[in-house]
Amino acid sequence: MSIRVDPTLLLELHKYGAFDVNACFNCGNCTAICPLSTETENFPRKMIRYAQIGVRDRLLGTNELWLCYYCGECSDTCPREAEPGEFMAATRRYAIANYDLTRLSRLLYTSAPFSIIFLLLLAAFLTVIMLARHGPMRPESLALFDFVSARLIHHIGITVIGMVVLAGAISIANMVHKMSRSAGGLAGAAAEGKHGGNVFQWFASLVRTIFTEVFAERRYRDCDEEKQQPWVLKPWFIHGSILWGFLGLLAATASDWVLDLTGIKPTGTMVPLWYPVRLLGTVSGMFLVYGTTVAIVKRLSKPDKPSSHSLLSDWVFVLLLWLAGVSGFALEVALYLPAPQMWGYYMFIIHVVVSMELILLAPFTKFAHAFYRTTALVIHARLAPGAQEPAVSAGTSPAGP
Ligand code: SF4
Ligand code: SF4
Repeated sequence: MSIRVDPTLLLELHKYGAFDVNACFNCGNCTAICPLSTETENFPRKMIRYAQIGVRDRLLGTNELWLCYYCGECSDTCPREAEPGEFMAATRRYAIANYDLTRLSRLLYTSAPFSIIFLLLLAAFLTVIMLARHGPMRPESLALFDFVSARLIHHIGITVIGMVVLAGAISIANMVHKMSRSAGGLAGAAAEGKHGGNVFQWFASLVRTIFTEVFAERRYRDCDEEKQQPWVLKPWFIHGSILWGFLGLLAATASDWVLDLTGIKPTGTMVPLWYPVRLLGTVSGMFLVYGTTVAIVKRLSKPDKPSSHSLLSDWVFVLLLWLAGVSGFALEVALYLPAPQMWGYYMFIIHVVVSMELILLAPFTKFAHAFYRTTALVIHARLAPGAQEPAVSAGTSPAGP
């Protein structure tokens, strides 16, 4: 297979992050120090080399891009201050922009005016749809679903989720297609005689990956173990809090919908705080608000490399998540206070609009990491030698300079 070289690749990548791999002299220190790099998956040096020589297909066709969790150790120790960790993060943003066939991600990542106008227009559009046929704001009780019908919210929610699943599936198919054509990806694995097993083994790997890597953050914890800080401030716990909180809120909303469909509890019925679905929502909201608040404080105070470089897209993502969590709590307070609170209606609109905007943009923003990283980790689990074993620690990594 011929290899196409694009001399503009590095310039293009610079639009997605702050790094200087022109300064890199390929010493390999970053790969040696990386807690997740192995002999066969020797990032970030290999990725940097791909970018320097302009082999775009190799860069986009490897799952190694998604095996890095941006702990920043490589950036801390790079003798040339080339910011290899930030390079990996920027290249993941670039990959999201390339896997997305609509090109919306590209605009959201590279144009601040477009991002701001698009997000405001989308929020306005969702608000108009919700309020187009709204009912009265009753002052005597907080009757949210007399104000905006639960049926309308369910219909918008199902449409939004359907669009996201479709856009996400197309983007993942595009990612796998690029990997299947790249000598550094699935094509390379096939050339080495690796086929990864049958469909049941792939499915088992998917389930195992979701539990061990998505929920339990195994690799992220390996990536983090060198850092001396309380576990509640460790990046894996912050990341996990945001992820668990958001997934918990999604599960609570979906459960509420199922209870309504089955006639067990119509949406909007007041239940005690300990009612299981309400409790799940409250606890998940606490995790989400905790995780996003610490993430915002870290981005402001920049105590480490991963917090030091924030694009507008990073800010938008974390602020929308924070707003979804905080407006959800404010709404809960308004609902459970003895006297009706009229501001609860406004919180309700903000909460629903922000949550739908977040979900709708999932395939085009940082949220897409969840899809691509899971796919890459499943491929890693099936094809990398010894990948089922715990990650190799920095001190014993065979990936020397
Ligand atoms: S540590 Fe990595 S990024 Fe820094 S100069 Fe060496 S190979 Fe390049
Ligand atoms: S996991 Fe950490 S050390 Fe390894 S490449 Fe990513 S940022 Fe660098």
